[in-house]
Amino acid sequence: MRQHDFRRFLNALGDLNPAQIEQAQTKIMDLRRKTEVISEIEARTNQENSCPSCGIDRRQKWGRTRTGIQRYRCQSCGKTYSGRTGSVISRIHRPDLFLVALRDMLGTSTPRSVRALARQLGLNKYTVWRWRMLALSIIQHREATAFSGIIEADETYQRESRKGSREWVRHFADPQNVPQPPRPRWEDFTTKGLKMMRGLSKWQLPILTVADRGGARLLQRLPNRQSATLERAMEPLMPKDAVLCSDGANGYATVAATGGIEHVVVGTKPGTRVTAGCYHIQNVNSLHARYDKFIKPFCGPATKNLNLYIRWLEARLAGIGPTDVIRAS
Ligand SMILES: [Zn+2]
Repeated sequence: MRQHDFRRFLNALGDLNPAQIEQAQTKIMDLRRKTEVISEIEARTNQENSCPSCGIDRRQKWGRTRTGIQRYRCQSCGKTYSGRTGSVISRIHRPDLFLVALRDMLGTSTPRSVRALARQLGLNKYTVWRWRMLALSIIQHREATAFSGIIEADETYQRESRKGSREWVRHFADPQNVPQPPRPRWEDFTTKGLKMMRGLSKWQLPILTVADRGGARLLQRLPNRQSATLERAMEPLMPKDAVLCSDGANGYATVAATGGIEHVVVGTKPGTRVTAGCYHIQNVNSLHARYDKFIKPFCGPATKNLNLYIRWLEARLAGIGPTDVIRAS
């Protein structure tokens, strides 16, 4: 808009009635959302301004894409590109709404359900689900966490889930040829009260949780409950001069013994939970509480996606923001 017209527009704002002010505000909020994500995406090309197909950094501006992002044309190979070319978010039609979905995922409040979010954004639930999986796939790469000082370790458990699996359906459709899957259905846990029965612990998947006093946190799925598995997972995390606090499971004792690390076993009964005033595992216990609170609304995510959900919680704990995800995509 030309400066002259803009001034007239600003003057006209004075004549709006309260309802019109509301409407104008909503419209401006919408536009702000759009320009915000556009500037985020354009920041990606400004960092490295070489052509994604030939790598030469002679370019000229070449209009805008349909989503309003600056398009460039390589003067060497003649191809056009924008800040999204070659990234995993390159084919999202509504990057502004994707940013809203990211804010919902990484904000401080509980993430909304896919359906609720889809209703709010006026999108199909499968679109929101796909975006969520896309965002999780972007944040799943991370550097190894470094621990030091007093390190607390424990495990928490998540019930195995085949959410979305067709194995029971296939069994009922053809009982002669397809055997019954060797696991309880989710409804059995509530209708038959399976939680209290023996032998069900094999359906509980262990998740190793490690925390130190400096705020480093780690949640990692373990393939099984054997001590050897625990040792393998713990070994690279422990520096030589650390002190390990645990509930005394075999794996921890072995890791400490082989690495020559001091190991403090804390009790689980009231009054024995803190040793010498500073050795306890209350940071990992509170991490378990955070995990339970985070995972509960999902009603048992499918086990094939559990790693992504764990990483999602880690990203929330580490304070990774929506713009970090856009930049990393
Ligand atoms: Zn080029």
